[in-house]
Amino acid sequence: MLPQYHIILGAVFSIMLFLIFPQGVGLIGAIIFFLSSFLIDIDHYTGYVIKKKDWSLKNAISWHMKMRQKLLSLPRKQRNKFYGMLCHLHSIELLLVLLSASIFISQYLLFVALGFAFHMLTDILYQPTYWDRFDKISLIFDYFKYKKLKNLEDI
Ligand SMILES: [Zn+2]
Repeated sequence: MLPQYHIILGAVFSIMLFLIFPQGVGLIGAIIFFLSSFLIDIDHYTGYVIKKKDWSLKNAISWHMKMRQKLLSLPRKQRNKFYGMLCHLHSIELLLVLLSASIFISQYLLFVALGFAFHMLTDILYQPTYWDRFDKISLIFDYFKYKKLKNLEDI
């Protein structure tokens, strides 16, 4: 899902959370949830930096748009044979670490975990619009799955 949709959905849901649970969430919790709901996608940038050894945000965005176009230009069945890159923040493993850390370090990490989980849920719901599998749930699962697939860049 493109970042602008994540921002809109994150804004709507964080406002709803704040209005429904004003005492439990609080303004700071709602803001952290909102920011986390789209800033998780920073792993697309860091993944690009690691892969291409290039710090340019502009290049990273255009590379991702090019990969997206490449994927969408393929017939649906072909798309299932490719992957783009590992998204290290989109993972149930990190959610578990954040949930544990929210107990022992700071309660605000709970809102980071909730924002990330909300983002991941919207990504999961969006994926059936372009291929027949679910990525970006588990980093470990994706790592082993991608070893059997081809990289989109190699087309
Ligand atoms: Zn995402």
